[in-house]
Amino acid sequence: MDIRLGNGYDVHAFEDGDHVILCGIKIPHSAKLKGHSDADVAMHAITDALYGAVAQGDIGRHFPPSDPQWKGAASDIFLKHAVALVRDMGFDISNIDCTIVCERPKIGPHAEAMQRQLADIMALDSSRISVKATTSERLGFTGREEGIASIATAALVKP
Ligand code: MG
Repeated sequence: MDIRLGNGYDVHAFEDGDHVILCGIKIPHSAKLKGHSDADVAMHAITDALYGAVAQGDIGRHFPPSDPQWKGAASDIFLKHAVALVRDMGFDISNIDCTIVCERPKIGPHAEAMQRQLADIMALDSSRISVKATTSERLGFTGREEGIASIATAALVKP
């Protein structure tokens, strides 16, 4: 059996706006996340964890930010690509664990919807997907509410 682990980390800064998109779920907020795509920081971390597990680079390699066709893109395009790539290489996704680091918006009330959305995109049982959150105790850039960070782990198995 071939078991792989991958990690992913991403950060996006806030800018003027009225909602954020996290794990594909639109959440009303007093700012939005700045980015070339929809700036879904959590989905980007998960996508990079999948690429990392099979040593296939990162999201920027597969979808260069210099390419205008990805401007404003919904991040499920990136996640679906990574899922297809690992499955094409013969791996099953065992589980995903994602942590979102921010003071606001509160993630807890949306975590279940996020799990369901990711399960749908990845064609995976939602019991294999964890979405959780923490604050950084008002320290650093996330603590000052300058942006949101996310870290994710993916475990893959080739039977
Ligand atoms: Mg990103």
